[in-house]
Order: sequence, then C-alpha cells, then structure tokens
Amino acid sequence: MALAIVNSLFSDNIRLLKTEASKTAYQGVGVAIATIIVATCLVCYLGDNTISLEGLWVAQKHNPALWMLNLGPFVFGFWGQYSSSIMAYQAGAMIVDQTQELRIRADNLEKETAYVSTHDRLTDLPNRALFYDRVERAIISALRLGNQPQGLSILLVEIDNFKDIYDTLGRNSSDLILKQISNRLQGLSLETDGVAKIDGNVFGILLSEMDSSGWDEEFAQQILKAMEAPFLIDRLYVNIHPNVGIVHFPEHGQDVDTLVQRAGVALHIAQKSNKGYALYEQSFDKHTPLRLTLMSELRHAIGRDGLELFYQPQVSIQTGEICGAEALLRWNHPIHGFVSPEDFIPMAERNRMIKQLTQWVLHRAFRDCALWYKQGLQLKISVNLSARDLHDPELPDLISGIAVAAGIQPAWIMLEITEGSVMTEPESALVIIKRLNDMGYHFSMDDFGTGYSSLAYLKKLPLTELKIDKSFVMDIIANENDAAIVKATINLAHNLGLKVTAEGVESKAIMDRLTEYGCDIAQGYFLSKPISVQDFNQWVQEADWKIANRNIQL
Ligand code: C2E
Ligand code: CA
Ligand code: CA
Repeated sequence: MALAIVNSLFSDNIRLLKTEASKTAYQGVGVAIATIIVATCLVCYLGDNTISLEGLWVAQKHNPALWMLNLGPFVFGFWGQYSSSIMAYQAGAMIVDQTQELRIRADNLEKETAYVSTHDRLTDLPNRALFYDRVERAIISALRLGNQPQGLSILLVEIDNFKDIYDTLGRNSSDLILKQISNRLQGLSLETDGVAKIDGNVFGILLSEMDSSGWDEEFAQQILKAMEAPFLIDRLYVNIHPNVGIVHFPEHGQDVDTLVQRAGVALHIAQKSNKGYALYEQSFDKHTPLRLTLMSELRHAIGRDGLELFYQPQVSIQTGEICGAEALLRWNHPIHGFVSPEDFIPMAERNRMIKQLTQWVLHRAFRDCALWYKQGLQLKISVNLSARDLHDPELPDLISGIAVAAGIQPAWIMLEITEGSVMTEPESALVIIKRLNDMGYHFSMDDFGTGYSSLAYLKKLPLTELKIDKSFVMDIIANENDAAIVKATINLAHNLGLKVTAEGVESKAIMDRLTEYGCDIAQGYFLSKPISVQDFNQWVQEADWKIANRNIQL
C-alpha cells in the first residue's frame, strides 16, 4: 500500500517536472524556427535585394548554412525532451528520497513520544498508564478462557523508608536507589516488561500463568530477599525497607482499578506486619484508612456531581477589601459523610482521576468567577493544581478552552502550585507553568515553607504570590520562631517582587500582627471558613469587610 502511494507520488512528480522542463525545450524549438526564418529572409534579401517566395525557396535550396540551421529545431526538440526527462526523473527521485526520510523521521518521533508517555524516564520501566493497560489486556485474555479464567496476580512493592532516604541523601542519590531497585526487580521477574514503576516509590508487578497457588507469596519473599543487600550510593551503604501487597484476579476484583486499590490495601497491612508482605483479604478493609477503599466511589462522585466547590474568602490587609477567594473541593459521601480533600486528593493523584477532578474544579470555578464578575464582584479566584496536573502537557489548552467557554479573563485567576509538585520534574513543570503564564494566568506558591524550598527555583518560576502555610501563621502569637519565619518570608517575598497571602488567619490578634509585618492578603477562619457559593454571596453582603464595587447584585 505504502509502496503504491510512493510510486504514484513519484510518477505524478515526474509528470509535473517533465511538463515544466518541456516548456523550456518548446521555447528552444520556437527560437530555432524564428532564427531559420530570419536567416532565410536575410539570405534572400542579400541575394535579390527583395524578399519573395521564390527567393526564399532558392535560399533554402542552395545555402548549406541554412541547412545546418534547419537541423536546429530537431536537435533542440530532441535534446530538450531527453534532458527534461532525465532531469525530471532525477528531481523526482530526490523528492521521493526526501519524503521517505521525512516520513521515517516522523515515524521515529511518533514512536519516541509514545515511548515517553508510557515509560518512566528514570528507570525506563513501563509507567502507571502502560501497567494498567497491560493488566487490562491480561484480564481480557484471561476472561476469554470462559468459566475457568486463568489466574493473575498483581504485586505492589513500596519502599517504606524512601522519604527518609530522600530527605537525607537528596534527589540524585534517591534516584540512583530507585534505578537499582528497578534492576533487581527486573532480574527477578520472569516476564519481560512485567515490572512497572507506577508511582514515586511504588513498583507494580504483573504475574500471569501461575503454576501453583501460593507462588505469588513465594515471589513476594524473593523480592524482599533481593532487596536485603544494602545499596551502595556515593560510598554509603543504604538499606531499604520494602513492603509487598498482593491481589489475585479473579477472586479479589474484576477490573484493574479495584485490583490495584486492593493491592494498596494489602500493602498497608504489609507495612504493619513483620512479614513485609500481605495477600489481600476482605477483612483488611475494616483496618485500613477509609481513603484506601474509596477510590472507585470517587469516580462515580465526579460523574454524578457528588462533589461541591466551596470558596474561602481572601481580604486585602491594607485596604480591608474582599479581594479574592480560594476554591476548595468538598466531597459529601452518601454513607461516610464529609471526606476531607486531604484524603481524596492524594488518592486521586495516585490513580488516574486527578485530571478529571481538576477539570471539574476548573469548570466550576471559572463558571462561578464569570458569574461574580457579571454581578459586579471582581474577585481573584485561586484554584489548586496538583503535581500530576503540572506534568500534563494538555493542561494549558484544557484551561484556555474552559476559560473561553466560561467567558473569563486569565488575569482573574490565580493558579496555586506547591514546591513539591514543581520539584518532582522541574523542567517539564516549568514549561507548562510558563505557557500558562504567557497566556496571562498568575501563579501562587502554596504551602510555602513546608517543602524543600529552593530559592534558585523560586526565582525561575513566574510567580505573582507566595502563600505562607497555615502551620506557621496559626502560631505566630504563641511561637516566636514561627513569627520570625513569617516576618522573614514576607520580606523575602517583597524583595522578590511578590505579594504575600497568609492562610490560617484564625484570630484578630493574628490579623493585627500580619498588618504590622506588612502582609498583603489574609485568608482564614477569622474571616470565614470555606463555604458554598450561596453562603459566600450572603457572607459578602453581611461581612464587615469592604467591597470594592458597591453596585453588586448577588
Ligand atoms: P490548601 O490548598 O493549603 O488549602 C487550605 C486549607 O486550609 C483548606 O483545607 C482550608 O479549609 C484550610 N484552612 C483555611 N483557613 C484555615 C484556618 O484559619 N485554620 C485552619 N485550621 N485551617 C484553615 P481543606 O479545604 O481541607 O483542603 C485541604 C487541602 O486539599 C488543600 O490545602 C489542598 O491542598 C487540597 N485541595 C482542596 N481542594 C483542592 C482542589 O480543588 N484541587 C487540588 N489539587 N487540591 C485541593
Ligand atoms: Ca491552596
Ligand atoms: Ca495552603
């Protein structure tokens, strides 16, 4: 098929080029004929002093120079046709060569992009998306076997002390450890591509075709054994503490989400057991935090509007005006009641739901923001982005699409990011942040002071605002250290040309202290807790804080 296309492209090109080149040959023939006519007339005139048909005939008959000239059009015609064919053929071949080269390059680029989106950059192992895909395919082929589906096992391996290693040795060394772990796991795995890195320090292993029951537990023991030997990093011997959670298909779940979620529950139990591994049992659900069992329900909550977006007001400390609000997600679970975003956001991050969740929040927040502007209330709406969002190259286009649909200006929005979310893959995060900033979106560094602050990176990011974490702000009256940190952070931010928002403003005393320190914006329970849109509108009418535009109709 491809060959046929190339061939037809080739002959089309040649035909086109030949027509172009032939034109020049015809012109040559034309010039040669014109030369014969002029020369014959000249010979006739020089001989007879006049030009007559007879004279022309005689000139043509007796003048050998004219005979030579007469050959010109044939020579030009033949030579022109011949060389145009050769040239057209060569040029056509060159174009086809180049087209093929371009096609090969495009194919390679496509393959490279597909590889990057399905593999972990550090270890080259399949990433979460590819692992889920493989498990899904394995489930489908196991189910094809009818009543007696072939067994599969999923093992999750997590490094318990990874955070300590990261905090002590830093990113480069902990990356080296992850690479070595991945090598040891691959050495153990019987199937090529059976091992995947599905999260920062979590590996997934798919085992199919189990010969006998209990084999996967044996495999878990082998994993623990393989990880026993210390890892040599920068002349230091480092020990890791892995745990393994195991699930079986079909007993423990019929779909990849449920299976991985239950492997996570088993992993949680493994952390507490001294064996270091655990095979999932239903009774585990009672002993694990609620968040581990809620995953599939969250997906339904997004689909069925089980979520709500609350807003927490922000007030300008210097002018006393209500200047903005932070959008905060709420999930009111039909059975468990209110589930904290601190539980379900990390859960959604670990699964493939954060994109949907962020999309949902952006739709709501932009729609509400547009409505407030229409009503005359000019609020800057802050929206939280999570780590995974910042590594999604589609995010800028997604946001601009939602903004256009809602009819808002980018400058009305503040996107909140955290140090941690930027630092996981700083380069790619920076590209996305810069693109959004070029579109006119403002950025705020949330939870400032709690992460691995890197001033070098802070300077690289196009920030408008620093948000001091509530853990420092809440204690500034009682704790001198916290007061010093808050004061220094405000000065630092102002020196970098940034505004400062303090969250966790729980009392008038804190508000007064922040005024003294020159802080710009306050957010906290002293002003209001996060509330629904209706309550927010009422709060704006009744609060003691000023509204810039008095002609609002809420
Ligand atoms: P955050 O971004 O740091 O949000 C501020 C949190 O501090 C909110 O908790 C808010 O209710 C709480 N807070 C505000 N003022 C005070 C105060 O004066 N005292 C105390 N004790 N707490 C205060 P919330 O709503 O539970 O949210 C927790 C976290 O969940 C947020 O922390 C944010 O990281 C995440 N989150 C919430 N909504 C979203 C969302 O739409 N997307 C993403 N990616 N994350 C979200
Ligand atoms: Ca925030
Ligand atoms: Ca915060």
